[in-house]
Amino acid sequence: MDCIFCKIISGEIPADRVLETDEILAFHDIHPAAPVHVLIVPKKHVDSIQALSAETLPLVMPLHAAIREVAERTGIAGKGYRVISNIGEGAGQTVMHLHYHVLGGRKLGPKLL
Ligand code: AMP
Ligand code: ZN
Repeated sequence: MDCIFCKIISGEIPADRVLETDEILAFHDIHPAAPVHVLIVPKKHVDSIQALSAETLPLVMPLHAAIREVAERTGIAGKGYRVISNIGEGAGQTVMHLHYHVLGGRKLGPKLL
């Protein structure tokens, strides 16, 4: 599959890795939108949250555990940070491999809601 995040997971494309487990990989976004901007992806390819199935839904737990660990490691856990997942083209998803953006290290705004 021609998926840039699958190529990062396999090591074919380099990335600045923050955290890796059997199930997930976290790495710095190549175009950071904040001082801390880390992407967290499941190693198994899933297109988006909307594409999660009964088989892949359990991946949500290690992804959320990784959010907390990445926030600790990057020093933003105590200050506050934002987690975003764009789902589909209408939301601006450009890489069709489920990922969470973890953003922090500056005052974040504007809030959508
Ligand atoms: P989205 O637009 O929500 O699909 O997010 C995709 C993100 O992947 C963007 O913030 C890009 O900057 C980031 N990105 C694309 N290619 C790479 C790469 N090779 N290494 C790290 N981040 C990347
Ligand atoms: Zn993929």
